[in-house]
Amino acid sequence: MSAPLLKVENLCVNYGHIEAARGISIEVGEGEFVGMIGSNGAGKSSALKAIAGVVKPASGSITLGGKPVQGLASHEMVHQGVALVPEGRFVFADQSVEDNLILGGFVQAQRSGVAALRDDIDRMFQLFPRLKERRTQQAGSLSGGEQQMLVIARGLMSHPRLLLIDEVSLGLAPKILDFLFPVLVDLNRQGLSILLVEQIATRALAVTSRAYVMENGNVKISGRSSDLVKDAAVMEAYLGKQ
Ligand code: ATP
Repeated sequence: MSAPLLKVENLCVNYGHIEAARGISIEVGEGEFVGMIGSNGAGKSSALKAIAGVVKPASGSITLGGKPVQGLASHEMVHQGVALVPEGRFVFADQSVEDNLILGGFVQAQRSGVAALRDDIDRMFQLFPRLKERRTQQAGSLSGGEQQMLVIARGLMSHPRLLLIDEVSLGLAPKILDFLFPVLVDLNRQGLSILLVEQIATRALAVTSRAYVMENGNVKISGRSSDLVKDAAVMEAYLGKQ
């Protein structure tokens, strides 16, 4: 059997004395859409940041297509084909929408040239027509939903094999989520592997095929999303009312 695209084993992340991730083991197969759900402070973001090279793990192993990648810096992880859509809709606020996309396409432009960069921007404008309408507008003046679209599009500009998404729903209206989640499903259907960290469990379980339920820095339960969503004990004990 070939190695999964992403394999994380016994991942530990500490911030000083705080143990944010305590031996997390997860996998994402090629072309899979996998969720990580669970309460505040469960360690989901820390795991994602460690995979993306944003924080250094204290211990554990991370492989991508069988190749060890733990400890690589975030820009090296982009070269490896991993893009992080961080929590909090971080955009380059003073730059235009288009310039934000160009910055996201920097690594890919080095490989494929500037003409390909133009094609990629057009592809993002097809995916998110709102961004096309606002292409010259400063990113900081976009609505929350538009900023989230921009951060996702900026991540896609690097042509990732694996997209890591942290809390796409945070502070956004249900109507915007009704648009954003189907876009992610389409991207996955086109072959993109996705690991989605999400606090609204029902949203995550509706779009992913498998999920990990996190608690207190570790995986508490994992399984098919369609089974987890039917599991009243899971919903009640770990996820609360959604
Ligand atoms: P949330 O949804 O609130 O982001 P989470 O499941 O993603 O929760 P983490 O953000 O990974 O959880 O946080 C896990 C633990 O690590 C929490 O106790 C949190 O307070 C702590 N923590 C996270 N980031 C830092 C940091 N930079 N410095 C110190 N402690 C941190």
